[in-house]
Amino acid sequence: MKIAILSRNAKLYSTKRLVEAGQQRGHEVVVLDHLKCDLVIEAGQPAIIYRGVKLTDVDAIIPRIGASVTFYGTAVVRQFEMMKVKSAVNSQAIVRSRDKLRCMQILSREGLGMPKTAFTNYSKDVTQLIAQVGGAPLVIKLLEGTQGLGVVLAETDKAAESVIEAFHNLKARIIVQEFISESKGADIRAFVVNGEVVGAMKRQGKEGEFRSNLHRGGTGQLIKLSRAEKAAALQAAKVLDLAIAGVDMLQSERGPLILEVNSSPGLEGIEKTTKTDIASKIIEYTANLVEQKKEKRASK
Ligand code: ADP
Ligand code: GLU
Repeated sequence: MKIAILSRNAKLYSTKRLVEAGQQRGHEVVVLDHLKCDLVIEAGQPAIIYRGVKLTDVDAIIPRIGASVTFYGTAVVRQFEMMKVKSAVNSQAIVRSRDKLRCMQILSREGLGMPKTAFTNYSKDVTQLIAQVGGAPLVIKLLEGTQGLGVVLAETDKAAESVIEAFHNLKARIIVQEFISESKGADIRAFVVNGEVVGAMKRQGKEGEFRSNLHRGGTGQLIKLSRAEKAAALQAAKVLDLAIAGVDMLQSERGPLILEVNSSPGLEGIEKTTKTDIASKIIEYTANLVEQKKEKRASK
């Protein structure tokens, strides 16, 4: 079958691995830059024009949509869905996963553990906001941040006040979160594909750094998840309707606390750390979606 990877850069590790894994399984795999897709919308005939040519024979897509192009990228995914092309991750779920606040709201409704978090639009009463999460030390995060940029640890209430005021003055939207010191600069990434944890690693921030992001110099090591951690990762992916998800959690005295759920999780760190062929799991899942569709049609 023909599988399209929606990716802006065919040279990225994750993209290359998906192409390789797809070809190994005998599929035709193409990389399409979602920003180069034109969407043609008319009654009953949704179409996509790629570099001047109408796409007609794609069976399934695997979206790898970067956070900076969520709007257009998800519109392209939605267009494929309208054309009855199977998508490994549905467009609505990607949109939802990009809104950190909305994700936290959904996860909290489902009773999943998370660091206590507060959000405000009313910037006058900063002291009140700080008190809501139990006072300093606390973490202040830009709502639109990724890769650990825009995540600040304020050690004292005074420091927290100045940082919150500075962000508010810049009209930046932030969340204020209780600092989980027991996690000691480490977090866990669980990679979920189709209701199964296919790999997990612990990421440790470099010396003196509370952020464990690999982009911030953190290192990954293989870890076996506890039952509670596994259950939390699977449930988070499920309630956000993400068939493919990278679930980030902190280990705390009260069990796993979810930080965020990533809908285009990178493959490099997790494959190299766990020595697992996760790309193949994604391809197999995607190919199955198409097979199921064919079977459904045949049985009608
Ligand atoms: P980003 O989406 O930018 O990666 P995260 O919310 O995942 O932002 O935070 C980046 C890192 O900072 C996490 O991987 C974790 O190591 C650390 N961190 C984030 N929030 C907390 C917290 N409340 N307590 C302790 N450490 C945290
Ligand atoms: N390598 C990224 C990091 O430093 C992780 C990418 C992802 O979110 O999957 O956190």
